[in-house]
Amino acid sequence: MNTAGAQKAQVPDIAAQVTYAMRIMGVAAIPRNYELFYEAYIGSNPKLTRELAALGSKATQEELDAIGSRYFGHHHRAEVIDGAHSRIVLQLDGILRLLRQEQNSLESYNTLLGETFARISSKNTASVDLLKNAIGVITEATDDTLTQGKERVEDVVQTSMEMDVVRRELDEYKRIASTDSLTQLSNRRAFDNRLAAVYDNALTRNATALVLADIDHFKKINDTYGHPVGDKILATVGNLVRTIVRKDIFLARTGGEEFAMIIEGNTEEEAMLIAERVRSALESTPFKNSKTGVNYGPVTISLGICMASEAEGPGELYSKADIALYCAKNGGRNRVMAYEDGMKKEFSKSWLIYRK
Ligand code: GH3
Ligand code: MG
Ligand code: MG
Repeated sequence: MNTAGAQKAQVPDIAAQVTYAMRIMGVAAIPRNYELFYEAYIGSNPKLTRELAALGSKATQEELDAIGSRYFGHHHRAEVIDGAHSRIVLQLDGILRLLRQEQNSLESYNTLLGETFARISSKNTASVDLLKNAIGVITEATDDTLTQGKERVEDVVQTSMEMDVVRRELDEYKRIASTDSLTQLSNRRAFDNRLAAVYDNALTRNATALVLADIDHFKKINDTYGHPVGDKILATVGNLVRTIVRKDIFLARTGGEEFAMIIEGNTEEEAMLIAERVRSALESTPFKNSKTGVNYGPVTISLGICMASEAEGPGELYSKADIALYCAKNGGRNRVMAYEDGMKKEFSKSWLIYRK
């Protein structure tokens, strides 16, 4: 107890130090500021530390965010989206203003027509001069209105083109937010949304399979060849699986060396065949370094399947597929197992051991 207590006392309380520094510098206690000060405190990037220190005690949120965007662009997407949103609002305001101007000038034109008509109607005998004069006024007003209308159309087209650029930027950020950067597959966030949607309608609920897959002994690959090689293997596995399975099968990297597939419109047997195809393709794919000739393989994967109809909701479906995956691991790895009710007991016995 004492030793543990003594050890605990020696560990610097980074969170307290970071929040203290933030308070001293009068910085708002929000997560993205904490991230900045945390990085500065642990000194992982001396340039960042210097830039932050240079702001002194009067740093504005804008200045802090500017540093944040430079060093943690991935965490500042919300800002970019906010920016794009404000630009869209501005562009829409512009379009509305143009349309209002257009409406005003059409209204003036209409009034002019009305007045001219009244002038003509008020005379008993319309002289040629009066008619000529009225036609001249109308022609001039029509030309003006046409020219203005043309200019407005050009303005609206220009503004719409700018909005299209913003829309494409937003689409790209949306894509990034749901994509795993290493494998370019969907990420965990996208997977969670997709899994929840399975239970939105009876059709998908009845014919959807969830497949969870986990690379076998991946830690050993990392330990033997290093993390960067591990990353390359993960990217290759992702790519390989994407090329093997149908386009409409939702494929995600859900965590470190874990992948998931949501297969719609198939029976369990058909989903098993798809999973088996993935397993066997991986087993027979050489993972060779073309420069050094080193063979990192064989890389194998274990897969667990559960049908959506066997669970009440996404949480239960995930844990049942995970149980099947556990059984595939426990049964010797490099295999596919479908969830069965009997599996639960075995799972509860050694689940904690597996998760360690
Ligand atoms: P098992 O067959 O039981 O799944 O064994 P395992 O070694 O694959 O499983 P374990 O969960 O013990 O280890 C997973 C390893 O995956 C641990 C970690 O080093 C590695 N890992 C997790 N995320 C990444 C990543 O993004 N890149 C790399 N290179 N390795 C990762
Ligand atoms: Mg794992
Ligand atoms: Mg693994």
